[in-house]
Amino acid sequence: MKANLIHGEWVTGTRAVANINPSDTRDVIGDYAQADAAAASAAVAAAAQAFPAWSMSGPQQRFDVLDKVGTELLARAAELGDLLAREEGKTLPEAIGEVTRAGQIFKFFAGEALRQRGDLLASVRPGISVEITREPLGVITIITPWNFPIAIPAWKIAPALAYGNCVVFKPAELVPGSAWALAEVLSRSGLPPGVFNLVMGTGAEIGPALVDDPLVTGLSFTGSVATGRRLAASCATRGAKFQLEMGGKNPLIVLDDADLDVAVNCAVQGAFFSTGQRCTASSRFIVTDGIHDRFVSALVQRMKSLKVGDARQAGIDIGPVVDARQLAIDLEYIQSAQAEGATLAQGGEHHATDAQGQPGFFLTPALFTNTHNGMRISREEVFGPVANVIKVRDFDEAIAVANDTPFGLSSGICTTSLRHATRFKRLAQAGMVMVNAPTAGADFHVPFGGRKGSSMGAREQGTYASEFYTTVKTAYTAA
Ligand code: NAD
Repeated sequence: MKANLIHGEWVTGTRAVANINPSDTRDVIGDYAQADAAAASAAVAAAAQAFPAWSMSGPQQRFDVLDKVGTELLARAAELGDLLAREEGKTLPEAIGEVTRAGQIFKFFAGEALRQRGDLLASVRPGISVEITREPLGVITIITPWNFPIAIPAWKIAPALAYGNCVVFKPAELVPGSAWALAEVLSRSGLPPGVFNLVMGTGAEIGPALVDDPLVTGLSFTGSVATGRRLAASCATRGAKFQLEMGGKNPLIVLDDADLDVAVNCAVQGAFFSTGQRCTASSRFIVTDGIHDRFVSALVQRMKSLKVGDARQAGIDIGPVVDARQLAIDLEYIQSAQAEGATLAQGGEHHATDAQGQPGFFLTPALFTNTHNGMRISREEVFGPVANVIKVRDFDEAIAVANDTPFGLSSGICTTSLRHATRFKRLAQAGMVMVNAPTAGADFHVPFGGRKGSSMGAREQGTYASEFYTTVKTAYTAA
């Protein structure tokens, strides 16, 4: 049984859960100890105990730890990518790319540990100087979803540690294997006991101990809107800092002047790669009259050529849906779109086995036409390989439809017009905007995050991460 990491010790519990390969449900990957509320509280206490010393640690020590973790993740990207693909179902190249990104993130924040800056200003009062510095928050609870089980934890854990915080990490229930592998690398990196803790368990059982404990000074959460808002309310009530990254309903606008090949590539990569299970996945294609029919026909042709199957097999474009529950949600949205009058132009077929007869959660990417922005399929996040086309007259209608959503994570446009591209970048109500590029697929060293219902709090990644993981101190010294 793989255990939880609390105060530098591997701690088992009374219960374990197994993770299953969604490409072959006969394949049981491993058993993972489940922390109970008492173990979660012990992890928080361990982090609080470790904080005073870690907060005073020097930049070199933090650099060494984070750089070592980054080096190992990069060296083991193929091996850990295989585990990730086996557990979560993204294809092997995508999974290896995710581990590589995690390694790059640790390297980036190793550098940031050496570059912590401050300001020295003259006071408006003579003889007084003012120093402005950033200090760590304290104990940060990190709660993550299943769809990026190594990269998302990495982009929270690395800055938290780089800026001198201690961490309690709770991964999603479906992906304990990837989380445990990351924790195991961290456990050998030279961190003092208690600086980094792993607790695996359900949100219902250990969530309150991780979020409501007064020792927890910050919560960094990525997951669904419903969970995020509940946890934020609880943090706000007791004055803890929080940062939420949540869902999306990301539009891709395709204008008459778009390069058709570019548009189809953006659509396929953005909506269907990683089985559409990305917060930044395109789910609404907003297409002007003049190119609509050509775009739909080229996209359908391209979709027909996509190979759905075992995530770890060569030549597979789209892996399985993560589990039976998510598959049922995807199928329910497909039925509901049809019931609302949308036309299923391609895909949406569930296969209980792949071409080799392996039992898994296979779903061919689905495309709906004849849809409008008021339909449920246009308004709610599906989190699967399902997208719909909305026909519009022109740029102005396209941007109005794109922005007409409760979400604001990523927004894309395909156009060859500089004027349209420039206006789009200004008018799109999203944290990330993409011109002739898929809505999904962000760099590791620049800010990531959204607006409206998609995000709350400071940005993640890049130098902007310090906004969340530090607090500003203004010190006055009279000569
Ligand atoms: P989820 O909200 O069900 O779970 C996310 C995490 O919260 C899990 O670790 C879960 O165990 C935990 N959790 C649930 N209830 C809790 C509670 N009461 N207390 C403490 N923790 C609790 O989301 P999911 O199904 O794992 O992930 C899918 C969602 O994540 C989608 O909505 C997707 O858009 C979103 N997501 C957003 C981003 C982003 O950066 N914006 C990135 C990836 C995924």
